[in-house]
Amino acid sequence: MRTIILTITFIFSLTNIFGQTDEAKLKISQLTGDFYIYTTYNTYEGSQIPANGMYLLTNNGVVLFDTPWDTTQFQPLIDSIKLRHNKSVTTCIATHWHSDRTEGLEYYKQQGINTYTTFLTDELSKKNNKKRAQFLMTKDTIFNVGQYSFEIYYPGEGHTADNIIVWFSKEKIIYGGCLIKGADAENLGYLGDGNVLEYKTTLEKVQKKCPDPKFIIVSHHDWNNINSLKHSIKLAKKLKIKNS
Ligand SMILES: [Zn+2]
Repeated sequence: MRTIILTITFIFSLTNIFGQTDEAKLKISQLTGDFYIYTTYNTYEGSQIPANGMYLLTNNGVVLFDTPWDTTQFQPLIDSIKLRHNKSVTTCIATHWHSDRTEGLEYYKQQGINTYTTFLTDELSKKNNKKRAQFLMTKDTIFNVGQYSFEIYYPGEGHTADNIIVWFSKEKIIYGGCLIKGADAENLGYLGDGNVLEYKTTLEKVQKKCPDPKFIIVSHHDWNNINSLKHSIKLAKKLKIKNS
């Protein structure tokens, strides 16, 4: 009993020393079946922004979609996955060149994880001094990992010139990355590297490619609303009119 009290006191004082309210730096929640969403955070223009990624458990290792944005969470993420599921991450695919997707690529490569981006993403990462993957895809690619199959699809320019999405046609899941914004988003976010005229067409290609999705995973908003893609198309339409 005494040890327990001491331990509690110790944890309590540690919290005080670091002066934190113990906001979790890494959140993991199950999406459906073997699909999990993980979230890390970073400060952008003075506010705390969440960045969602995903991982998929297969009987041939775990596939990570994008890397944590928070550089302190690369190892905690793979440790948490190991602890929770007793499986190791074997593959990591980043969906465009920005840091919130690619920051952990070189770290994971050093851990023996096979890292992938498209050739175009690699060109832009090189040009912008971002972390780069080991393996490059020159065209839309179907991955077969364990019992799962999914497709990398490049719909055209939008959030960036290289943004790809991942389509799980059997499970009807769109992993949209930063291309798709949440159903409540007020705008399409940072467009400094984007294509304001093509954005709408690009999103419509996603809609055509991925009929009747059950889940649409977005980077910086709640993913529990299936209207995110439709809403993003509306925003992109306005954007196009404004810039034409
Ligand atoms: Zn982003």
